[in-house]
Amino acid sequence: MALVNLYSDTQTRPTSAMRKAMAEAEVGDEQRFEDPQVTELCSRVAALLGFPAAVFLPSGTMCNEIAFRLHIRPGGDEAILHRRSHPIIAEAGGPAAFAGAMMYPLDTPLGMFTGDDVRGALRPAGDRYSPRSRLVSVEQTTNMAGGRVWPLSQLREVVGVAAEAGLRLHLDGARLMNAVVASGVPASEMTAGFDTAWLDFTKGLGAPLGAVLAGSVELIDEAWRYKQMLGGAMRQAGIVAAGALYALDHNVDRLADDHALARVLADGLASLPGVTIDPDDVETNIVIFEHDEPERLCASLKERGVIMGAVGGRRVRAVTHLDVDADGIQTALEALERVCAR
Ligand SMILES: *Cc1c(COP(=O)(O)O)cnc(C)c1O
Repeated sequence: MALVNLYSDTQTRPTSAMRKAMAEAEVGDEQRFEDPQVTELCSRVAALLGFPAAVFLPSGTMCNEIAFRLHIRPGGDEAILHRRSHPIIAEAGGPAAFAGAMMYPLDTPLGMFTGDDVRGALRPAGDRYSPRSRLVSVEQTTNMAGGRVWPLSQLREVVGVAAEAGLRLHLDGARLMNAVVASGVPASEMTAGFDTAWLDFTKGLGAPLGAVLAGSVELIDEAWRYKQMLGGAMRQAGIVAAGALYALDHNVDRLADDHALARVLADGLASLPGVTIDPDDVETNIVIFEHDEPERLCASLKERGVIMGAVGGRRVRAVTHLDVDADGIQTALEALERVCAR
């Protein structure tokens, strides 16, 4: 039985062409700046995101952890971010353990928030009873809130309020290229005004490993200190950086195919009994819908070779990616029809 794995876009496997690029990569000692693939990848991502410097890290989680450590000072600093954002729900409490961050979770629709929401979360300046507002962190696209693309105007508004209040700004770009492809807005415009931003290569871009964190020369120098501290300083990392470079050259434009298939899936889901979804909420490759028995639904789908994730409450998440084609989505919809009809 063919497997249609919509659990996550992290499930992608490197294609043979990507593996070939990796196998043939010229490599060196990454932590001594002697790996040509890593050097090229960092300068390309820095330029793409509009920053002067960048550092290669093993994972997006490490990008967030190091960025929080860069921005948060010891002594009660607070980060303002959405309650479903990755640093809150999926990093083992790292921002508390590693950076000492207080977290101010915003409960706003679809993973996005406004300048006014940030204003409402600001602590009174100079008040010794309050934590000190220090950082705003934004997820583009919003993962567990449904893969939404922050409109540029809304990003600008949040940047404006944060800058006015003297806060640092961080952009979690695990799926930034999905946002770029879906909106046509260049990445460097989305990151304008942010102090740090990063790209993940293991999501829809289809590489097996790696993420790049970008920022000012000073911040990236400091990031190297924490990369060393966490054991993220590598050796012949060009093997994996070559996969990321291959992804930048071959796997960005095709994200539009994933978005189109996600929309087909969402449209099909909308007509099924017991399913709640507004297909207009689906802008990129993430489809989140509601069902009364998400665990049972996912178990029954799995018996039919279709994998989705129950992600809490009544919510089920399906994510399209380069290992799922139009036939796969049809298979998924047929399985859903059977399971939902019962
Ligand atoms: C996947 C993800 C991360 C973490 O990236 P890894 O490379 O899996 O560590 C961070 N933020 C968001 C929004 C993600 O989807």
